[in-house]
Amino acid sequence: MDTEQVITRFPPSPTGTLHIGGARTALFNWLFARQHHGKFILRIEDTDKVRSTKENTESIIESLKWLGLDWDEGPYFQSQRTKIYYEMIEKLLSSGKAYYCHCSPEELEKKRIEAIKKGLKPKYDGKCRDLGLGKAPGAVVRLKSPLTGKTIFKDLVKGTISIENEQLDDLILQRSDGSFTYNFAVVVDDSNLGINYVIRGDDHVNNTPRQILIYKALDEPIPQYAHLPMILGRDKAPLSKRHGATSVMAFKDMGFLPHALLNSLARLGWSHGDQEIFTKQELIDLFSLEHVGKSAGIFNMEKLLDLNAKYIREENDSTLADLLLPFLSQLGCKDLPREKVKCAVKTLKARSKTLLEMAQRALFYFQEIDYEQQADEKFLLPDVLYILEDLLLDIKGATSFDQKNLENIFSTLLERHQIKLGTIAQPLRVALTGKTVSPGIFEIMEVMGQEMVVKRLSNAILHIKSKKGP
Ligand code: GLU
Repeated sequence: MDTEQVITRFPPSPTGTLHIGGARTALFNWLFARQHHGKFILRIEDTDKVRSTKENTESIIESLKWLGLDWDEGPYFQSQRTKIYYEMIEKLLSSGKAYYCHCSPEELEKKRIEAIKKGLKPKYDGKCRDLGLGKAPGAVVRLKSPLTGKTIFKDLVKGTISIENEQLDDLILQRSDGSFTYNFAVVVDDSNLGINYVIRGDDHVNNTPRQILIYKALDEPIPQYAHLPMILGRDKAPLSKRHGATSVMAFKDMGFLPHALLNSLARLGWSHGDQEIFTKQELIDLFSLEHVGKSAGIFNMEKLLDLNAKYIREENDSTLADLLLPFLSQLGCKDLPREKVKCAVKTLKARSKTLLEMAQRALFYFQEIDYEQQADEKFLLPDVLYILEDLLLDIKGATSFDQKNLENIFSTLLERHQIKLGTIAQPLRVALTGKTVSPGIFEIMEVMGQEMVVKRLSNAILHIKSKKGP
């Protein structure tokens, strides 16, 4: 690579929120720019006035921020850049590289149908190409594409791609309502912003030769292209709603950590040997377009869950507490003491695949509990009543409530009753949490604190007594 500064871009259309595919494109552009100490530019392609919304724009920006994909310039908005498009149309018209076409949509449709009937590829026949027509109501501006020769480019992922110019239409640059087409606006913007690497999904590969012809007509340098392979679900079908959530914000709401998602996105089409887990810095250092494969990337939710669990385990308790609070609040536990949440996190982080799951598992610390029916029937039985009652006395009399002291209380209790911890652990767990699965008994008791443990034990004792009948 020469010494020119690398400038990449991410140009989402705000006709929807940011999905896995778009996020992967943004990530690869970001990684490439960061690796080369270049620039990453955000441009919102909001020319489709009907389908573009402010909410989608905000959501895309929020998603990028959440993923930590920061940009160096922008966001630019295409809707605010029409002046440049007008200027470039003028430039092309005055240099004879574009022309006004007066053909009506009806006329074009008729010709299209005739061509299909004759088994030909429908294409504009160039009727107005050399007529030197001027601006008129209903007129469009078309590019005067070369009629012969080939357009060839070296895609950094797909290799050399060549297409006969004959196959390419005199494509429309400006519509009769004055609006500009995607192919035109994207080239004007990319060249105006100095973009020299266009990394995007391969659904755009067919646009590239057309865009190259526009660059040539504008006499602007052509960027390097890298078209990324599609993303499929594990069933090898293109990733869609059928595969579950695909929008980045949905992953946030499900309780994924941004880096877990980034790490999974990075592996969609790119690889570095067998390595699955990368820090952000490793991604920046190791990413290379040469190692983006030609075959589709497979999005694997199971792997993402495992990665998320790993990053949750490795995150510090304090950060996790801050991340968990909004989830707990959504589940009805508002304004919780942060310190207690932090202690709860410590007991749960080894077992939670998502923050949402962690919040659900943490509820017993913060909300009244109900006994799960099966757990209740199996474990809250009269034969453990006397042990629970004895334990309650010990707990009430405890002078400190740390794990060490709790262990001492239990060992004397077990000794006194000549039983093993196994006899009492599950009934106690159900009494304290309502469930048969929870972190270790001593851990949870310490987090709950003496008062709550006394209350839950007393409730369980009353509950068992009520089963015995009068
Ligand atoms: N706005 C286009 C899209 O979202 C950008 C395509 C491109 O990268 O040129 O698909």
